[in-house]
Amino acid sequence: MNIFEKMDQEYAYDGALGAVYTREKTEFCVWSPKADGVTLNLYRDSVCKIPYGTEEMKSENGVWTVEVSGDLHGVYYTYSMNFDGEISETIDIYAQSAGANGKRGMVVDMSRVNPEGWENCGYVTLENPVDAVLYELHVRDFSIDGSGGFRNRGKFGAFAEKGVKNAFGDEIGLGYIRGLGVTHIHLLPSFDYGSVDESSAKPQFNWGYDPVNYNAPEGSYSSNAADGLTRVREFKEMVKAAHESGLGIVMDVVYNHTYSADDSPFNMTVPGYYYRHNANGTLSNGSACGNEFASERAMARKFICDSLCMWARDYKVDGFRFDLMGLLDIETLNLCAEKLREINPNVILYGEGWTGGDCPLDEELRAMKKNARGLPRFAMFSDDFRDGLKGSVFIDTDCGYINGGENPKSAELVKSLMCGGLKNPDVERDNREIWADAPQQTVNYVEAHDNLTLFDKLHVSCPDESEETIIAMDKLAAALIFTAQGIPFFQAGQEMLRSKPLPNGGFDENSYKSPDSINSIKWNKVTENAEIVDYYRGLIAIRKKFPQLRLRDADEIRERVSFEDIDGGAILMRVDDLFVLINPTDKSVTYAREGKYRVYADDKRACAEGLYELEDVLTAKPKSVIIGTSFN
Ligand code: CA
Repeated sequence: MNIFEKMDQEYAYDGALGAVYTREKTEFCVWSPKADGVTLNLYRDSVCKIPYGTEEMKSENGVWTVEVSGDLHGVYYTYSMNFDGEISETIDIYAQSAGANGKRGMVVDMSRVNPEGWENCGYVTLENPVDAVLYELHVRDFSIDGSGGFRNRGKFGAFAEKGVKNAFGDEIGLGYIRGLGVTHIHLLPSFDYGSVDESSAKPQFNWGYDPVNYNAPEGSYSSNAADGLTRVREFKEMVKAAHESGLGIVMDVVYNHTYSADDSPFNMTVPGYYYRHNANGTLSNGSACGNEFASERAMARKFICDSLCMWARDYKVDGFRFDLMGLLDIETLNLCAEKLREINPNVILYGEGWTGGDCPLDEELRAMKKNARGLPRFAMFSDDFRDGLKGSVFIDTDCGYINGGENPKSAELVKSLMCGGLKNPDVERDNREIWADAPQQTVNYVEAHDNLTLFDKLHVSCPDESEETIIAMDKLAAALIFTAQGIPFFQAGQEMLRSKPLPNGGFDENSYKSPDSINSIKWNKVTENAEIVDYYRGLIAIRKKFPQLRLRDADEIRERVSFEDIDGGAILMRVDDLFVLINPTDKSVTYAREGKYRVYADDKRACAEGLYELEDVLTAKPKSVIIGTSFN
C-alpha cells in the first residue's frame, strides 16, 4: 500500500467540501490530512494585496474547517497551507468562481446570479441517446470572426444573441444550429483553463485542454474576467439561451490532467495525492501533457463526481464529453453516471476511450474502448468509423471507404460500422475489434477538433481529385454518419466545408493554439456552401423521420439491418422498408428490385419530405448515396 492509499484508508471523507454558503454564514472545508496548519484568507477583490480577514482553520481527521458569519456572496478567498513550516497560498480546488487567471476563489450564492426565468429552464431531454445529434463547437470560434456580426465576439454572451446574420443576411448562431436539427452543442473546454492570459486584451486562442479550476467557468469567455460573478452569470445565460432554442449543452471535461502539476492547486493542497506516479516516483504522463490525475483515489474520485454534479445541477449542463477517458478509472465513471442520473436521468455521457501515452493504472480498470462493456452508460468515440471512412488521422495520405476507390474489403468494415460496430453474424469482422454492445455506446464521426477537417483531409489524401468529387465524398461521409446506428457527431462547420488552411500552404492538423484566422467559424460559408449545408440539414431530418435509423438495441439491429454487396465495394443497406444504396466508387451503381420507391436523398439533395419516386431500379451516382423507401 502506498502513502496515498494509506491516506484514503485513514482519512477519506464523504461530506461537503469548498465554501458551503448560506446568507447567514459560510463554512469553509478543505481536505488535507498531512497539513500542519491551514489559514483562510478573505479578500475584497481579486487583486488587492492584503486580506481583509484571516481565520485559522481547525482540523478533524484530515478536514480543516472554519465558519465565517455574515453574507459572504462575492467575497474572494484563498487558503494558506502550512507543511513543515513552509507556507504557500492556493485557491480552493472546489472554488465555484475566481478572479482573473484563477488565482483567488470566490464564494458564490448561485441563486443570486441566475438569469431571469432560470427556474423554468429545464434540461433538453431525448427519448434515447441515439436520438441525439451532437455538434462540437469552441466558444471563441463560434463568434470571433467578423463575418458573424456578433456583438459579444468570442464570449459566452454571443450565444444569447438572437437573430444574428452573416454578411449575406442569412441566419447564423444558435437559431441556425437548431435549424440544422442538432440536439446538443458540445462545447470545447469552458471551465477555467490556464493557457490564455485573462488579464490581457490581446487576441489569444487555445482549445483549453489545460484545466486550472474545474469548477469555475473560463474567464476569457466572460465580459469581465476580473469579476468572478460575471463569468458565472454569463455561462448560465448561455445555457439558458441554448435551452430556449431547444439545444442541450454538453461540456468537454478534462479530468485526466491539469495545466501544471508542481504548482497546481491540487498539489499545493495535498502534495502528490491527486496525481499518478511511475514506480521511480516521477509523475506519470498518460495524457502527454506532463501529468495525469489519479481518479482512482478516494478524494480524487469524489472531486470528479462533485464537480460533474455541480455543473449538471447549478448550470443545468445536459451532458459531458470526457477527454482522454481511458485515463479515468471505470469505477469512478460509473459512480459519476449514477449520481448524475439522479440529477438528470437523460444526461448524455461519452468520451475518448483511449489515452495519450502509457499509464501506470491497470488497463482493465481504465475506461478504454476495450472495456466499454463495463461502462454501459457511456458512449465512446468510434475512431474505427472515423478512420474507416476517410483513412487514418495519423497518415495524411491514407484513404478509407469514401475516398479510396474500389475496395470490397473496406466495404465489410463499413457494414459493421453502419450497425454501430456491434457483433453481427451477417458481417465479416474480427470479434476482437468489436468493443460496443449497444448502439448507445458508439459515437459515429469523421471530423472533430483534432486532426484535419474532413474537407482538408479529402484534399490532402486525394490531391488529384476535382473539387466536385471532394464535395461528393464529403456528402457521402455525411450520409453515412446520419444513417448509421449509434450516435451521430460532427464538428461545427463540417456542414459548410470547414477548412483550416495555413498561410504558407497546406492545412492545420493541430490548431490548438493557432490564431482565430485558422480556427474561427467563417459564417459566410453558410451562404457560399448553402447546397452542402442543406444536404446535412436534410440528412439529419431524414434520420429524425425514420426511427429505423435510430434502433434502440443490438438485437433489433441484427434483426432489421441487412446488406447486399454491389459492384466494387458499393453496398445496399436495408432497414425494414428503408433502402440506402451506398456508392464509394467512381462509377454509377444500380440496385434492381421490383417495386416503387420514394427517394429522400440522392447525390444532390436530401429532404425528409421526399424528392421523387422511382420504379424497380435505384441508381447511385459516383461517390454518393440514394436513400429511399419502398411502398406498394
Ligand atoms: Ca483561465
